[in-house]
Amino acid sequence: MNNNFSRRTFLKRATAAGLLGALTATGLSDPVKAAEQRGEKLGTLIDLTRCDGCPNSPTPLCVAACRQHNQSRFPEPQKPLKYYWPQKKVEDWSDKRELTTRLTPYNWTFVDKVKVEHNGLQHEIHVPRRCMHCDNPTCLKLCPFSAISKESTGAVSIDDEVCFGGAKCRDVCPWGIPQRQAGVGLYLQIAPDLAGGGVMYKCDLCSDLLAVGKKPACIQACPREALTIGPREEIQALARKKAQDMGGYVYGDLENGGTSTLYISSVPFEKIDQAIKADKKQKEDNSPGRPGMPVKVDNYLESEKGLFYSALLAPFAGAAAAGITAYRTLKGDQSNGTSPNPVNPGEEEEHDHNNP
Ligand code: SF4
Ligand code: SF4
Repeated sequence: MNNNFSRRTFLKRATAAGLLGALTATGLSDPVKAAEQRGEKLGTLIDLTRCDGCPNSPTPLCVAACRQHNQSRFPEPQKPLKYYWPQKKVEDWSDKRELTTRLTPYNWTFVDKVKVEHNGLQHEIHVPRRCMHCDNPTCLKLCPFSAISKESTGAVSIDDEVCFGGAKCRDVCPWGIPQRQAGVGLYLQIAPDLAGGGVMYKCDLCSDLLAVGKKPACIQACPREALTIGPREEIQALARKKAQDMGGYVYGDLENGGTSTLYISSVPFEKIDQAIKADKKQKEDNSPGRPGMPVKVDNYLESEKGLFYSALLAPFAGAAAAGITAYRTLKGDQSNGTSPNPVNPGEEEEHDHNNP
């Protein structure tokens, strides 16, 4: 045995174990409380070297736990569904509720699976996917109806009582995360024959569980500890350290200007992204809900177009915020999101995420 190698390996592992031990002793054992005490948001780490997709379960356990926990919030559309301006298509997932292999209004997390060649080896990679809970969420800033908020935990949530289903959030999300169900929502009470597309749905990090100091359902359910939650800075340090130790890669740190969901992998994320794209192409899968992993993707709000768009919309912000505040007051809800940048419904864009 090579003594230098043994000593180096031992020291490396001891350092990693020490760091992990320190983190467990501080923020990871009681993450919600620790983050709150430090005035920090939460972060999650998804370790692709640990996730095996739960091969012995019909549905990955994280996905099953998410569905079980959130099922009372899944939409019950009024049928028959109508075509509404400006939508060109009605998005209806209500007959595909059992689908667990992509994001839908009835499935807020899924585990993608791709084969990737790296350094002469074939890797089968399982990638749990859901909202990244971005630091500067484009979906929130460009929602015309102030329906999206970022909570003190860092979770980004859509208020299903305010959402009009225009899908602007999906258009400006680099991963096209929120998914639309027609035949539900506020528009049915306001302009049922004229406008509205339904409601957008996505993961909210199980905000109800976080509110009582518990971890999100997916994290509680994972038998392989592939999912970890803790104060964001600790999660960031842990992700970087683990990636460094394995000679691997981090995702989510820079993407969209930074997110609170960090992935680590022993293969480059560019290759995972290419593999997802190739698999979708081969299966002629053009439907929304199976996001890629574009590396270092820019935050739209920081682009020239995004800045221009935000500036153009700024004058509308006060009026829309006042309207939404009045509506929330009427329904007895005092909760408040961060500042919205509303647009006229007619200005919403359609793109190719819109074909279930
Ligand atoms: S994250 Fe955990 S629960 Fe989810 S598929 Fe991977 S191993 Fe299973
Ligand atoms: S991943 Fe998409 S939906 Fe989630 S917070 Fe970021 S921009 Fe919004």
